[in-house]
Amino acid sequence: MDKREFLKGSAATAAAMIVNPLTTTQAFAEVTVPRTNWSGNYHYSTNKVFQPATVAEVQDAVRSVPSVRALGTRHCFNDIADSQTAQISTLQLKDISIAPDGRSVTVGAGIRYGDLAGVIDAKGYALHNLASLPHISVGGAIATATHGSGMHNGNLATQVLALEFVAADGTVHTLSRDKDGDSFHGAVVGLGSIGIVTHVTLALQPRFDVTQIVYTDLPFAELEHHLADIMSAGYSVSIFTDWQRGIAGEVWIKRRVDQGGASTPPPRFYNAKLATKKLHPIPDHPAEACTDQLNQPGPWYERLPHFKLNFTPSSGQELQSEFFVPFDRGYEAIRAVEKLRDRITPHLFITELRAIAPDDLWLSMAYQRPSLALHFTWKPETAAVMNLVPQIEAALAPFHARPHWGKVFTMGAAQIQPLYPRIDDFRALTHGFDPKGKFRNHFVHTHVDTA
Ligand SMILES: Cc1cc2nc3c(=O)[nH]c(=O)nc-3n(C[C@H](O)[C@H](O)[C@H](O)COP(=O)(O)OP(=O)(O)OC[C@H]3O[C@@H](n4cnc5c(N)ncnc54)[C@H](O)[C@@H]3O)c2cc1C
Repeated sequence: MDKREFLKGSAATAAAMIVNPLTTTQAFAEVTVPRTNWSGNYHYSTNKVFQPATVAEVQDAVRSVPSVRALGTRHCFNDIADSQTAQISTLQLKDISIAPDGRSVTVGAGIRYGDLAGVIDAKGYALHNLASLPHISVGGAIATATHGSGMHNGNLATQVLALEFVAADGTVHTLSRDKDGDSFHGAVVGLGSIGIVTHVTLALQPRFDVTQIVYTDLPFAELEHHLADIMSAGYSVSIFTDWQRGIAGEVWIKRRVDQGGASTPPPRFYNAKLATKKLHPIPDHPAEACTDQLNQPGPWYERLPHFKLNFTPSSGQELQSEFFVPFDRGYEAIRAVEKLRDRITPHLFITELRAIAPDDLWLSMAYQRPSLALHFTWKPETAAVMNLVPQIEAALAPFHARPHWGKVFTMGAAQIQPLYPRIDDFRALTHGFDPKGKFRNHFVHTHVDTA
Protein backbone atom coordinates (compact mmCIF):
# COMPACT_ATOMS: atom_id res chain seq x y z
CA MET A 1 0.00 0.00 0.00
CA ASP A 2 1.58 3.30 -1.00
CA LYS A 3 0.78 6.64 0.55
CA ARG A 4 -1.72 7.60 -2.13
CA GLU A 5 -3.73 4.43 -1.74
CA PHE A 6 -3.62 4.70 2.02
CA LEU A 7 -5.11 8.16 1.97
CA LYS A 8 -7.44 7.35 -0.86
CA GLY A 9 -10.72 9.18 -0.82
CA SER A 10 -13.41 7.91 -3.09
CA ALA A 11 -16.91 8.53 -4.28
CA ALA A 12 -17.85 7.21 -0.88
CA THR A 13 -17.45 9.88 1.75
CA ALA A 14 -17.40 9.27 5.45
CA ALA A 15 -20.97 10.51 5.74
CA ALA A 16 -22.40 8.61 2.79
CA MET A 17 -25.60 6.66 3.25
CA ILE A 18 -25.85 3.24 1.79
CA VAL A 19 -27.56 2.99 -1.54
CA ASN A 20 -28.95 -0.46 -1.31
CA PRO A 21 -29.73 -2.01 -4.66
CA LEU A 22 -32.39 -4.29 -3.26
CA THR A 23 -34.27 -2.05 -0.89
CA THR A 24 -37.62 -3.37 -2.02
CA THR A 25 -37.36 -6.52 0.03
CA GLN A 26 -37.44 -6.63 3.79
CA ALA A 27 -34.26 -8.69 3.87
CA PHE A 28 -32.28 -5.97 2.16
CA ALA A 29 -33.67 -3.14 4.26
CA GLU A 30 -31.87 0.13 3.84
CA VAL A 31 -29.25 0.60 6.51
CA THR A 32 -26.29 2.73 7.27
CA VAL A 33 -22.95 1.00 7.22
CA PRO A 34 -20.18 3.57 7.68
CA ARG A 35 -18.13 4.14 4.55
CA THR A 36 -14.83 4.22 6.39
CA ASN A 37 -13.05 1.57 8.34
CA TRP A 38 -13.13 1.66 12.15
CA SER A 39 -10.08 3.85 12.36
CA GLY A 40 -11.34 6.28 9.72
CA ASN A 41 -8.05 6.12 7.83
CA TYR A 42 -9.56 4.32 4.83
CA HIS A 43 -12.62 5.29 2.78
CA TYR A 44 -14.27 2.40 0.97
CA SER A 45 -14.76 2.87 -2.76
CA THR A 46 -18.41 1.90 -3.06
CA ASN A 47 -21.72 2.95 -1.57
CA LYS A 48 -23.40 -0.28 -2.58
CA VAL A 49 -23.65 -2.46 0.51
CA PHE A 50 -25.82 -5.54 0.79
CA GLN A 51 -27.04 -6.54 4.25
CA PRO A 52 -28.25 -10.13 3.87
CA ALA A 53 -29.76 -11.90 6.85
CA THR A 54 -29.85 -15.39 5.35
CA VAL A 55 -27.58 -17.56 3.25
CA ALA A 56 -30.11 -17.37 0.39
CA GLU A 57 -29.87 -13.59 0.46
CA VAL A 58 -26.09 -13.82 0.32
CA GLN A 59 -26.45 -16.05 -2.73
CA ASP A 60 -28.76 -13.52 -4.41
CA ALA A 61 -26.38 -10.68 -3.65
CA VAL A 62 -23.34 -12.56 -4.97
CA ARG A 63 -25.15 -13.48 -8.17
CA SER A 64 -26.33 -9.92 -8.77
CA VAL A 65 -22.94 -8.21 -9.09
CA PRO A 66 -19.76 -8.82 -11.10
CA SER A 67 -17.48 -8.05 -8.20
CA VAL A 68 -17.92 -7.93 -4.41
CA ARG A 69 -16.12 -8.19 -1.06
CA ALA A 70 -17.34 -9.31 2.34
CA LEU A 71 -17.30 -6.67 5.05
CA GLY A 72 -17.23 -7.55 8.74
CA THR A 73 -16.81 -5.03 11.55
CA ARG A 74 -14.40 -2.82 9.50
CA HIS A 75 -11.45 -3.13 11.88
CA CYS A 76 -8.72 -3.54 9.26
CA PHE A 77 -6.42 -0.61 8.63
CA ASN A 78 -5.91 -1.04 4.89
CA ASP A 79 -7.88 -1.70 1.71
CA ILE A 80 -8.28 -5.44 2.23
CA ALA A 81 -12.09 -5.23 2.57
CA ASP A 82 -12.58 -2.70 -0.20
CA SER A 83 -14.43 -3.13 -3.49
CA GLN A 84 -14.96 -0.83 -6.43
CA THR A 85 -18.39 -2.36 -6.95
CA ALA A 86 -20.13 -3.68 -3.85
CA GLN A 87 -19.66 -5.03 -0.35
CA ILE A 88 -21.69 -7.61 1.53
CA SER A 89 -21.94 -6.65 5.17
CA THR A 90 -22.18 -9.82 7.25
CA LEU A 91 -23.45 -8.19 10.40
CA GLN A 92 -26.95 -9.65 10.14
CA LEU A 93 -25.52 -13.16 9.93
CA LYS A 94 -25.25 -13.78 13.66
CA ASP A 95 -27.10 -16.96 14.60
CA ILE A 96 -25.56 -19.28 17.22
CA SER A 97 -26.02 -23.04 17.38
CA ILE A 98 -24.16 -25.18 19.90
CA ALA A 99 -23.67 -28.80 18.81
CA PRO A 100 -25.53 -31.34 20.98
CA ASP A 101 -22.20 -32.95 21.98
CA GLY A 102 -20.91 -29.56 23.20
CA ARG A 103 -17.73 -29.78 21.16
CA SER A 104 -18.47 -26.99 18.72
CA VAL A 105 -20.59 -23.98 18.00
CA THR A 106 -21.72 -22.89 14.54
CA VAL A 107 -22.21 -19.15 14.16
CA GLY A 108 -23.21 -16.67 11.52
CA ALA A 109 -19.94 -15.21 10.25
CA GLY A 110 -20.88 -11.65 11.16
CA ILE A 111 -21.28 -12.24 14.88
CA ARG A 112 -18.83 -10.39 17.10
CA TYR A 113 -16.80 -12.47 19.56
CA GLY A 114 -18.11 -10.25 22.35
CA ASP A 115 -21.72 -11.14 21.49
CA LEU A 116 -20.95 -14.84 21.16
CA ALA A 117 -18.83 -15.23 24.28
CA GLY A 118 -21.47 -14.54 26.94
CA VAL A 119 -23.92 -16.92 25.25
CA ILE A 120 -21.56 -19.89 25.16
CA ASP A 121 -20.14 -19.12 28.61
CA ALA A 122 -23.65 -19.28 30.06
CA LYS A 123 -23.93 -22.81 28.64
CA GLY A 124 -20.59 -23.80 30.16
CA TYR A 125 -18.31 -23.36 27.15
CA ALA A 126 -15.38 -21.22 26.03
CA LEU A 127 -13.19 -20.52 23.02
CA HIS A 128 -9.48 -21.14 23.51
CA ASN A 129 -8.48 -17.51 23.00
CA LEU A 130 -9.56 -14.04 21.93
CA ALA A 131 -7.89 -11.00 20.37
CA SER A 132 -7.15 -7.82 22.29
CA LEU A 133 -10.69 -6.67 21.60
CA PRO A 134 -14.05 -8.49 21.45
CA HIS A 135 -15.55 -6.04 18.95
CA ILE A 136 -14.55 -7.87 15.75
CA SER A 137 -16.58 -10.31 13.66
CA VAL A 138 -15.68 -13.99 13.56
CA GLY A 139 -15.63 -14.03 9.74
CA GLY A 140 -13.40 -10.97 9.49
CA ALA A 141 -11.04 -12.13 12.22
CA ILE A 142 -10.36 -15.56 10.78
CA ALA A 143 -9.98 -14.14 7.25
CA THR A 144 -6.85 -12.26 8.40
CA ALA A 145 -5.53 -14.77 10.97
CA THR A 146 -6.31 -12.47 13.88
CA HIS A 147 -4.62 -13.62 17.07
CA GLY A 148 -4.28 -13.13 20.79
CA SER A 149 -1.25 -14.29 22.74
CA GLY A 150 0.04 -17.51 24.32
CA MET A 151 2.97 -19.81 23.61
CA HIS A 152 0.54 -22.67 23.16
CA ASN A 153 -2.34 -20.72 21.64
CA GLY A 154 -2.82 -20.70 17.90
CA ASN A 155 -4.51 -17.70 16.34
CA LEU A 156 -8.31 -17.43 16.25
CA ALA A 157 -8.49 -19.11 12.84
CA THR A 158 -7.17 -22.30 14.47
CA GLN A 159 -10.49 -22.56 16.36
CA VAL A 160 -12.28 -23.18 13.06
CA LEU A 161 -13.56 -26.69 12.42
CA ALA A 162 -15.67 -25.92 9.36
CA LEU A 163 -16.56 -23.08 7.00
CA GLU A 164 -19.71 -22.54 4.96
CA PHE A 165 -19.34 -20.04 2.14
CA VAL A 166 -21.00 -18.77 -1.00
CA ALA A 167 -18.73 -19.10 -4.04
CA ALA A 168 -18.63 -16.77 -7.04
CA ASP A 169 -21.43 -18.57 -8.91
CA GLY A 170 -23.70 -18.30 -5.88
CA THR A 171 -23.42 -21.94 -4.83
CA VAL A 172 -22.95 -22.85 -1.17
CA HIS A 173 -19.94 -24.93 -0.10
CA THR A 174 -18.71 -26.38 3.16
CA LEU A 175 -15.14 -27.27 3.98
CA SER A 176 -14.27 -29.01 7.21
CA ARG A 177 -11.06 -29.86 9.00
CA ASP A 178 -12.05 -33.52 9.25
CA LYS A 179 -13.16 -34.08 5.67
CA ASP A 180 -11.31 -31.59 3.51
CA GLY A 181 -7.82 -31.45 5.07
CA ASP A 182 -5.66 -29.57 2.63
CA SER A 183 -8.21 -27.29 0.99
CA PHE A 184 -9.68 -26.52 4.42
CA HIS A 185 -6.22 -25.37 5.54
CA GLY A 186 -6.09 -23.10 2.53
CA ALA A 187 -9.56 -21.63 2.86
CA VAL A 188 -9.78 -20.55 6.50
CA VAL A 189 -7.39 -17.58 6.33
CA GLY A 190 -8.98 -16.62 3.05
CA LEU A 191 -8.44 -12.83 2.95
CA GLY A 192 -11.99 -12.58 1.61
CA SER A 193 -10.96 -14.37 -1.59
CA ILE A 194 -12.59 -17.73 -1.12
CA GLY A 195 -16.12 -16.34 -1.13
CA ILE A 196 -18.56 -14.88 1.36
CA VAL A 197 -18.26 -16.98 4.50
CA THR A 198 -21.75 -17.37 5.94
CA HIS A 199 -21.22 -19.79 8.84
CA VAL A 200 -18.19 -20.81 10.86
CA THR A 201 -17.97 -23.80 13.18
CA LEU A 202 -15.63 -23.17 16.12
CA ALA A 203 -14.13 -25.65 18.59
CA LEU A 204 -15.42 -25.34 22.14
CA GLN A 205 -13.87 -26.29 25.42
CA PRO A 206 -15.28 -26.16 28.95
CA ARG A 207 -15.54 -22.60 30.26
CA PHE A 208 -12.71 -21.38 32.47
CA ASP A 209 -11.83 -18.41 34.63
CA VAL A 210 -8.78 -16.19 34.29
CA THR A 211 -6.93 -13.69 36.45
CA GLN A 212 -4.92 -10.82 35.06
CA ILE A 213 -1.86 -9.25 36.66
CA VAL A 214 0.41 -6.52 35.35
CA TYR A 215 4.07 -5.90 36.06
CA THR A 216 5.80 -2.62 35.18
CA ASP A 217 9.31 -1.59 34.17
CA LEU A 218 10.55 -4.93 32.83
CA PRO A 219 14.15 -4.31 31.69
CA PHE A 220 14.81 -5.14 28.01
CA ALA A 221 17.92 -7.03 29.10
CA GLU A 222 15.72 -9.67 30.75
CA LEU A 223 14.36 -10.62 27.33
CA GLU A 224 17.73 -11.80 26.07
CA HIS A 225 17.72 -15.03 28.03
CA HIS A 226 14.15 -15.15 29.35
CA LEU A 227 11.83 -14.21 26.50
CA ALA A 228 10.32 -17.70 26.35
CA ASP A 229 10.06 -17.94 30.15
CA ILE A 230 8.36 -14.56 30.36
CA MET A 231 5.96 -15.42 27.57
CA SER A 232 5.25 -18.73 29.31
CA ALA A 233 4.43 -17.12 32.66
CA GLY A 234 0.72 -17.31 31.95
CA TYR A 235 -1.85 -18.70 29.54
CA SER A 236 -1.58 -15.46 27.54
CA VAL A 237 1.16 -12.87 28.02
CA SER A 238 1.73 -9.47 26.39
CA ILE A 239 4.66 -7.09 26.78
CA PHE A 240 4.01 -3.40 26.11
CA THR A 241 6.91 -1.06 25.37
CA ASP A 242 7.59 2.44 24.05
CA TRP A 243 11.14 1.25 23.22
CA GLN A 244 12.83 3.85 25.45
CA ARG A 245 15.20 3.76 28.45
CA GLY A 246 16.10 0.08 28.02
CA ILE A 247 12.73 -0.69 29.60
CA ALA A 248 10.44 -3.16 27.89
CA GLY A 249 7.67 -1.81 30.11
CA GLU A 250 4.42 -3.50 31.15
CA VAL A 251 3.94 -7.26 31.20
CA TRP A 252 0.30 -8.37 31.18
CA ILE A 253 -0.10 -11.95 32.40
CA LYS A 254 -3.43 -13.74 32.02
CA ARG A 255 -3.51 -16.90 34.13
CA ARG A 256 -6.09 -19.65 34.01
CA VAL A 257 -7.55 -20.30 37.45
CA ASP A 258 -7.71 -24.03 36.69
CA GLN A 259 -3.93 -23.91 36.14
CA GLY A 260 -3.15 -22.19 39.46
CA GLY A 261 -3.94 -18.70 38.22
CA ALA A 262 -5.53 -17.50 41.44
CA SER A 263 -2.35 -17.81 43.48
CA THR A 264 -0.84 -14.67 44.97
CA PRO A 265 1.61 -13.23 42.44
CA PRO A 266 5.15 -12.44 43.56
CA PRO A 267 5.90 -8.70 43.94
CA ARG A 268 8.83 -8.94 41.47
CA PHE A 269 9.01 -10.72 38.12
CA TYR A 270 12.32 -10.63 36.21
CA ASN A 271 13.09 -7.29 37.89
CA ALA A 272 9.66 -5.87 36.99
CA LYS A 273 7.32 -4.64 39.72
CA LEU A 274 3.77 -5.85 40.37
CA ALA A 275 1.29 -3.07 39.58
CA THR A 276 -0.98 -2.11 42.46
CA LYS A 277 -3.50 -0.19 40.36
CA LYS A 278 -5.27 -0.99 37.12
CA LEU A 279 -3.41 0.15 33.99
CA HIS A 280 -4.12 0.83 30.30
CA PRO A 281 -1.46 -0.39 27.84
CA ILE A 282 -1.11 3.18 26.58
CA PRO A 283 0.21 5.42 29.34
CA ASP A 284 -2.22 8.19 30.38
CA HIS A 285 -5.25 6.45 28.81
CA PRO A 286 -8.08 5.69 31.29
CA ALA A 287 -7.90 2.10 32.54
CA GLU A 288 -11.69 1.79 32.85
CA ALA A 289 -11.78 0.66 29.18
CA CYS A 290 -9.59 -2.31 30.11
CA THR A 291 -10.56 -5.73 31.38
CA ASP A 292 -10.13 -6.23 35.12
CA GLN A 293 -6.67 -6.79 36.53
CA LEU A 294 -5.22 -7.01 40.07
CA ASN A 295 -5.60 -10.81 40.15
CA GLN A 296 -9.42 -10.71 40.23
CA PRO A 297 -10.78 -13.94 38.72
CA GLY A 298 -13.32 -13.52 35.95
CA PRO A 299 -14.71 -15.41 32.96
CA TRP A 300 -12.30 -16.09 30.07
CA TYR A 301 -14.03 -13.58 27.79
CA GLU A 302 -13.65 -10.76 30.32
CA ARG A 303 -9.92 -11.30 30.80
CA LEU A 304 -8.38 -12.61 27.56
CA PRO A 305 -9.12 -9.38 25.62
CA HIS A 306 -7.44 -6.26 26.94
CA PHE A 307 -10.49 -4.11 26.24
CA LYS A 308 -14.13 -4.29 27.30
CA LEU A 309 -16.86 -4.67 24.68
CA ASN A 310 -18.81 -1.57 25.74
CA PHE A 311 -15.78 0.73 25.62
CA THR A 312 -13.66 2.03 22.75
CA PRO A 313 -10.70 -0.35 22.48
CA SER A 314 -7.10 0.80 22.36
CA SER A 315 -6.86 4.55 21.62
CA GLY A 316 -9.64 4.89 19.03
CA GLN A 317 -7.66 7.44 17.02
CA GLU A 318 -4.80 5.32 15.73
CA LEU A 319 -3.14 3.24 13.04
CA GLN A 320 -1.70 -0.23 13.58
CA SER A 321 1.09 -2.34 12.05
CA GLU A 322 2.31 -5.78 13.07
CA PHE A 323 5.06 -8.15 11.99
CA PHE A 324 5.55 -11.85 12.83
CA VAL A 325 9.02 -13.33 13.22
CA PRO A 326 10.13 -16.84 14.23
CA PHE A 327 9.95 -16.97 18.01
CA ASP A 328 13.47 -18.30 18.38
CA ARG A 329 14.77 -15.14 16.69
CA GLY A 330 12.42 -12.90 18.63
CA TYR A 331 15.01 -11.25 20.83
CA GLU A 332 17.23 -10.39 17.85
CA ALA A 333 14.23 -8.94 16.06
CA ILE A 334 13.30 -6.85 19.09
CA ARG A 335 16.82 -5.45 19.25
CA ALA A 336 16.78 -4.71 15.50
CA VAL A 337 13.67 -2.59 15.95
CA GLU A 338 14.97 -1.02 19.15
CA LYS A 339 17.74 0.59 17.08
CA LEU A 340 15.00 2.70 15.44
CA ARG A 341 13.51 3.73 18.77
CA ASP A 342 14.21 7.45 18.55
CA ARG A 343 12.41 7.58 15.21
CA ILE A 344 9.57 5.32 16.30
CA THR A 345 8.63 6.56 19.75
CA PRO A 346 7.47 10.10 18.86
CA HIS A 347 4.78 8.61 16.59
CA LEU A 348 3.89 5.62 18.72
CA PHE A 349 1.19 5.09 21.32
CA ILE A 350 2.61 1.70 22.29
CA THR A 351 4.17 -1.52 20.98
CA GLU A 352 2.85 -4.92 22.03
CA LEU A 353 4.83 -8.16 21.84
CA ARG A 354 2.86 -11.42 21.75
CA ALA A 355 3.53 -15.13 21.19
CA ILE A 356 1.52 -17.25 18.76
CA ALA A 357 1.70 -21.03 18.37
CA PRO A 358 2.34 -22.42 14.87
CA ASP A 359 -0.48 -23.69 12.67
CA ASP A 360 -1.16 -25.25 9.28
CA LEU A 361 -3.32 -22.54 7.73
CA TRP A 362 -1.61 -21.59 4.48
CA LEU A 363 -1.85 -17.81 4.76
CA SER A 364 -1.59 -17.55 8.53
CA MET A 365 1.23 -15.32 9.70
CA ALA A 366 2.15 -18.15 12.07
CA TYR A 367 2.11 -20.79 9.32
CA GLN A 368 4.38 -23.61 10.49
CA ARG A 369 6.43 -21.44 12.78
CA PRO A 370 6.12 -20.48 16.46
CA SER A 371 5.97 -16.71 16.24
CA LEU A 372 6.65 -13.52 18.08
CA ALA A 373 4.44 -10.66 16.89
CA LEU A 374 5.78 -7.12 17.12
CA HIS A 375 2.81 -4.77 17.03
CA PHE A 376 2.77 -0.99 16.73
CA THR A 377 -0.19 1.15 17.78
CA TRP A 378 0.62 4.38 15.99
CA LYS A 379 -0.66 7.88 16.56
CA PRO A 380 -2.90 8.89 13.62
CA GLU A 381 0.02 10.50 11.80
CA THR A 382 -0.18 8.94 8.38
CA ALA A 383 2.83 10.56 6.74
CA ALA A 384 5.15 9.72 9.62
CA VAL A 385 3.83 6.16 9.86
CA MET A 386 4.18 5.54 6.13
CA ASN A 387 7.76 6.75 6.41
CA LEU A 388 8.57 4.55 9.41
CA VAL A 389 6.90 1.30 8.40
CA PRO A 390 9.34 0.57 5.54
CA GLN A 391 12.23 1.15 7.91
CA ILE A 392 10.79 -1.40 10.34
CA GLU A 393 10.15 -3.80 7.48
CA ALA A 394 13.79 -3.45 6.38
CA ALA A 395 15.02 -4.04 9.94
CA LEU A 396 12.87 -7.17 10.19
CA ALA A 397 13.56 -8.51 6.68
CA PRO A 398 16.45 -10.73 7.87
CA PHE A 399 13.93 -12.49 10.11
CA HIS A 400 11.52 -13.15 7.23
CA ALA A 401 8.85 -11.10 8.97
CA ARG A 402 5.30 -11.59 7.78
CA PRO A 403 3.04 -8.53 8.02
CA HIS A 404 -0.44 -8.76 9.56
CA TRP A 405 -2.82 -8.84 6.59
CA GLY A 406 -5.23 -6.39 8.21
CA LYS A 407 -2.81 -3.69 9.31
CA VAL A 408 -0.58 -1.03 7.74
CA PHE A 409 2.38 -2.38 5.78
CA THR A 410 4.20 -1.46 2.58
CA MET A 411 5.72 -4.80 1.56
CA GLY A 412 4.65 -5.82 -1.94
CA ALA A 413 4.06 -9.16 -3.59
CA ALA A 414 7.76 -9.70 -4.29
CA GLN A 415 8.55 -9.64 -0.60
CA ILE A 416 5.41 -11.29 0.72
CA GLN A 417 4.87 -14.23 -1.59
CA PRO A 418 8.15 -16.03 -0.77
CA LEU A 419 7.12 -15.96 2.90
CA TYR A 420 4.17 -18.28 2.23
CA PRO A 421 5.18 -21.70 0.83
CA ARG A 422 1.58 -22.58 -0.14
CA ILE A 423 0.71 -19.31 -1.87
CA ASP A 424 0.50 -20.91 -5.33
CA ASP A 425 -1.87 -23.49 -3.91
CA PHE A 426 -3.91 -20.70 -2.35
CA ARG A 427 -4.27 -19.04 -5.73
CA ALA A 428 -5.34 -22.32 -7.32
CA LEU A 429 -7.84 -23.01 -4.54
CA THR A 430 -9.47 -19.58 -4.73
CA HIS A 431 -9.55 -19.67 -8.55
CA GLY A 432 -11.43 -22.97 -8.29
CA PHE A 433 -14.26 -21.29 -6.40
CA ASP A 434 -13.89 -17.97 -8.19
CA PRO A 435 -12.51 -18.44 -11.73
CA LYS A 436 -13.22 -14.88 -12.89
CA GLY A 437 -12.02 -13.02 -9.82
CA LYS A 438 -15.35 -11.79 -8.46
CA PHE A 439 -13.90 -11.66 -4.94
CA ARG A 440 -10.37 -10.51 -5.85
CA ASN A 441 -9.87 -6.81 -5.15
CA HIS A 442 -6.92 -4.46 -5.48
CA PHE A 443 -5.38 -5.66 -2.20
CA VAL A 444 -5.44 -9.27 -3.35
CA HIS A 445 -4.10 -8.41 -6.80
CA THR A 446 -1.31 -6.36 -5.28
CA HIS A 447 -0.13 -8.79 -2.62
CA VAL A 448 -1.28 -12.32 -3.29
CA ASP A 449 -2.63 -12.84 -6.76
CA THR A 450 -0.45 -10.77 -9.05
CA ALA A 451 -0.73 -13.10 -12.02
C1 LIG B 1 -8.54 -1.58 18.04
C2 LIG B 1 -8.11 -2.78 17.26
C3 LIG B 1 -7.50 -3.85 17.92
C4 LIG B 1 -7.08 -4.97 17.19
N1 LIG B 1 -6.50 -6.00 17.87
C5 LIG B 1 -6.08 -7.08 17.19
C6 LIG B 1 -5.49 -8.18 17.86
O1 LIG B 1 -5.43 -8.23 19.08
N2 LIG B 1 -4.99 -9.21 17.11
C7 LIG B 1 -5.06 -9.20 15.75
O2 LIG B 1 -4.55 -10.13 15.12
N3 LIG B 1 -5.68 -8.20 15.09
C8 LIG B 1 -6.19 -7.15 15.79
N4 LIG B 1 -6.82 -6.15 15.11
C9 LIG B 1 -7.06 -6.30 13.68
C10 LIG B 1 -8.38 -7.03 13.42
O3 LIG B 1 -8.58 -8.08 14.25
C11 LIG B 1 -8.40 -7.57 12.01
O4 LIG B 1 -8.19 -6.52 11.17
C12 LIG B 1 -9.72 -8.32 11.67
O5 LIG B 1 -9.61 -8.84 10.35
C13 LIG B 1 -10.92 -7.43 11.77
O6 LIG B 1 -12.12 -8.15 11.58
P1 LIG B 1 -13.36 -7.40 10.91
O7 LIG B 1 -14.57 -8.22 11.10
O8 LIG B 1 -13.43 -6.00 11.37
O9 LIG B 1 -12.93 -7.49 9.39
P2 LIG B 1 -13.07 -6.42 8.18
O10 LIG B 1 -12.05 -5.36 8.37
O11 LIG B 1 -14.47 -6.02 8.03
O12 LIG B 1 -12.64 -7.39 6.98
C14 LIG B 1 -11.36 -7.94 6.99
C15 LIG B 1 -11.19 -8.94 5.85
O13 LIG B 1 -11.99 -10.08 6.09
C16 LIG B 1 -12.86 -10.30 4.98
N5 LIG B 1 -14.10 -10.81 5.54
C17 LIG B 1 -14.83 -10.29 6.54
N6 LIG B 1 -15.89 -11.06 6.77
C18 LIG B 1 -15.85 -12.07 5.88
C19 LIG B 1 -16.70 -13.16 5.57
N7 LIG B 1 -17.82 -13.39 6.25
N8 LIG B 1 -16.37 -13.95 4.54
C20 LIG B 1 -15.23 -13.74 3.83
N9 LIG B 1 -14.39 -12.74 4.08
C21 LIG B 1 -14.69 -11.92 5.09
C22 LIG B 1 -13.02 -8.96 4.31
O14 LIG B 1 -13.36 -9.09 2.95
C23 LIG B 1 -11.63 -8.39 4.49
O15 LIG B 1 -10.79 -8.92 3.49
C24 LIG B 1 -7.28 -5.03 15.80
C25 LIG B 1 -7.91 -3.96 15.13
C26 LIG B 1 -8.35 -2.87 15.87
C27 LIG B 1 -9.05 -1.76 15.15
